Amino acid sequence: MDCLFCNIIKKNIPSQFIDENKYAIAFNDINPKAPTHILVVPKVHISSTLDIDESNVKYLSEMALLANKIIVSKMISKKGCRWVINTGEHGGQTVSHLHLHILAGRYMGWPPG
Ligand code: AMP
Ligand code: ZN
Repeated sequence: MDCLFCNIIKKNIPSQFIDENKYAIAFNDINPKAPTHILVVPKVHISSTLDIDESNVKYLSEMALLANKIIVSKMISKKGCRWVINTGEHGGQTVSHLHLHILAGRYMGWPPG
């Protein structure tokens, strides 16, 4: 399967690596929407939140742990940040490999666009 984020995980496509654990990897978003914009992705192909089930939910919790490690280490925990996971067409998902956006460094409006 030709998946952009699977190819980044396999290092077939370069990315700006941030951190990783056994289950997830984090790299900078190529088109940042905030001063800090990091993507955290599972190291196996999970298409979207709709494909999270009991067999793979460990990946989601490990994505959360990696995200918090990064947020604390980058000192963006004090003023806050936003976690975003887009799902499907109306959610605005453009890459069909589950990913958590970490956005920080400016005030985030609500409701989102
Ligand atoms: P989403 O729209 O929620 O599916 O998010 C996909 C994100 O992937 C967007 O914010 C893109 O800017 C980002 N993106 C696309 N291609 C790359 C790439 N090669 N490296 C890093 N981020 C990418
Ligand atoms: Zn994939």
